[in-house]
Amino acid sequence: MIVTPLHAKHPRRFEENRFVYPVLSRRSEGISVGVNLNPDKVCNFDCIYCQVDRTTQSETRFVEIDQLLAELEVTLRLAASGELFEHPQFKNTPPEFRQLNDIAFSGDGEPTTYRNFDEIIGACADLKRRLGLDAVKMVLITNASMFHRPHVERGLAILDQNNGEIWAKLEAGTEEYFKLVDRTPIPFRQILDNIAAAARIRPLVIQALFMRVHGQPPSQAELEAFCDRLNEITAAGGKLNLIQVYTVARRPAESFVAPLSDEEVDSVVALVERRTGLPAKAYYGTSA
Ligand code: SF4
Repeated sequence: MIVTPLHAKHPRRFEENRFVYPVLSRRSEGISVGVNLNPDKVCNFDCIYCQVDRTTQSETRFVEIDQLLAELEVTLRLAASGELFEHPQFKNTPPEFRQLNDIAFSGDGEPTTYRNFDEIIGACADLKRRLGLDAVKMVLITNASMFHRPHVERGLAILDQNNGEIWAKLEAGTEEYFKLVDRTPIPFRQILDNIAAAARIRPLVIQALFMRVHGQPPSQAELEAFCDRLNEITAAGGKLNLIQVYTVARRPAESFVAPLSDEEVDSVVALVERRTGLPAKAYYGTSA
C-alpha cells in the first residue's frame, strides 16, 4: 500500500464531503469509505427497516463525478496514511481496527440505479489503482434489483477485476414476506433470478436482515423458505461465500419494526448453516 501524505492542493477535510464518508465498520473490522450514489435519497425499494432519514431532503440531488472523485481521493489518502485517526471522530478507534479495508458503494438508495454506475465504478477503480491501494476492497451493497441491466453488468465486471465484493440483500423466502418487508413493485422472482445469475459469474455475499414486525419475528416457515431459496441459487450453479444474518441496529423507517435479540439472530444463523451448509455469520443489533 503506497501512502502519500495529504497534499496541499487538497486541503479539504471529509466533514465537508457530499458524496464520500469514512466510517468505522465493525463488520469489516476497519475503516470503510462509503460512496453515496443516491444523494437524492431515492430508492426503488421502500424497506420497512430502512435507516435513511427521508423526512429531510438533501441539498445535493445529483452525483457530480469530479467532486465525488476528489472527495474519495482525499478520504482514501487520510485513511491510508493514518491521519484520519487524529480526527476527533476516529481518535478512539481500537488499534486492531486502524486499517483501511474497503470502499463501499451504498448510501441513501440503491447504488445500481445510478445511470452512470459503470462509469463511476471504473473511475473509482482507476483512482484506487493510482493510489496503490490494490488490497483495498470495493464492496457493492445492493438490493440486486438491477443486475440484469447492461450498465450494471458492466459495473459488476469492473468490480470483479478490482478486488470487488458484491453484498446482495435477500431477506425473505416468499413473495408475500418480500413485499411486506421490502415494499417494491419489483417481483421477488426477478431478485432471485438476478442473484442466481450474478452468483454464477462470481461468488456473492448475501445480506439478510431479519426483524420483529409488529412484535412478531419471521415465522419458522418463512426462515425455512429463505433457506430453500438459498439452496435453489446454489443448485443452479450460484456460489455464495457467506450469509450475513443481521438485524436492525439504528432507528428504522417504521416504528412497528424492532430488532431481534442476539439469541434469535444466532438461531437464524444455526438454521441457515444446518439447512444450506453455507457459512453464516451473526451481526447483532449493536453491530455497526
Ligand atoms: S434498499 Fe436499502 S436504501 Fe433502499 S429502502 Fe431498502 S434499506 Fe433503504
